[in-house]
Amino acid sequence: MIRVEPQISQRDIVAKTGFDKSTVSSIVSRFFELGLIVRNRNTSENRPGRPSESLSISPNAGLLVGVQIEAQAIAFVVTGLDGIPLATRQQSFDGQIKGLENIVENGIALTLSDCGRGGPILGVGVSFPGLVSTEGVLLHAPVLNWHDIPIFELLRAKISGPLFLGNDGKAAAMAEHMFGICINEDDFIYLFSGSGVGGALFLEGRMYLGANGLAGELGHMKVVPQGRLCSCGASGCLSAYLSEPALTEEIRSITGQPVFSFREVLRRADRADSAVLDVLENAGQVLGSAISSLINIFNPPLVTLGGDMSRAEAFLRPALERTLRRLAHPSILANTRINFSELSALKPYLGGVALALDGVTGLDGAHVLP
Ligand SMILES: [Zn+2]
Repeated sequence: MIRVEPQISQRDIVAKTGFDKSTVSSIVSRFFELGLIVRNRNTSENRPGRPSESLSISPNAGLLVGVQIEAQAIAFVVTGLDGIPLATRQQSFDGQIKGLENIVENGIALTLSDCGRGGPILGVGVSFPGLVSTEGVLLHAPVLNWHDIPIFELLRAKISGPLFLGNDGKAAAMAEHMFGICINEDDFIYLFSGSGVGGALFLEGRMYLGANGLAGELGHMKVVPQGRLCSCGASGCLSAYLSEPALTEEIRSITGQPVFSFREVLRRADRADSAVLDVLENAGQVLGSAISSLINIFNPPLVTLGGDMSRAEAFLRPALERTLRRLAHPSILANTRINFSELSALKPYLGGVALALDGVTGLDGAHVLP
């Protein structure tokens, strides 16, 4: 509550959480003793009685580090305990697992020296475009062609402090729940597109993890029987129609001209290039087909779309909504909002920070803060 609503009063925390006054008071006192929060006197308020007090996260509480590994780039961010970025850094990546631990170690050191603030490192979160098991093994990262890498062990050797690893789609959903438009949402389905398509099921206030932490591979829902080959090895997956490589390859095969990035796809769409508009229209329909199944299965109040999709809302939304009206059950669809995430378009790198913050403040796992 203090992070989400800086300058909140204890009275408002009691009202909004439903916890009793003495519980909130003892937790706040403990946070204050540990130096995690600061108390501010509100003298300007013209109310009788004691001057009210507002609470905010201490700027000296410590630092969180987020690292996002992608197919061709690695991004680093350092934030305070409030999740507000203090320094960011992006560098190209050749996709080789050999030496990754040194690249990550150096990138973190450089970003920390840029951030201009000292203090303990509370946690480091690293997100990967692949399946990360709860045991810390990267089972498969299709876009990097990595299999069965003991990734936790590998990074642990070079990174001191609490280390948390996860899938990038789930990390992005966590970031959306902590810092973005899903902040007060207990139930939502999240889809993220980039070099692949990932996602997460956030159900009844928690991310649904499944038997060994791998649930939520929404990009590999089968949307076209015997359809295109996907990087995961199967065919007909949503990712094979919606990811950046899928869209650029489709445009190249239709027009005979190479397209190198999603940014270029959007530039051409803005110029009303009809081939590109057709490809995005088709992508919107395939997306609508996948989401209609999710809507019928989960009856979610909210579906949030992030990454490249959020940059292409104007081109995807009409076909998506038309398809949903055709395929989803009307009485379920009527109670589902579809929104596009701004956070993931502007600050896609916050996923790693979300993993770190969840790791150090979560009620389960290896938490280091009270
Ligand atoms: Zn697939």
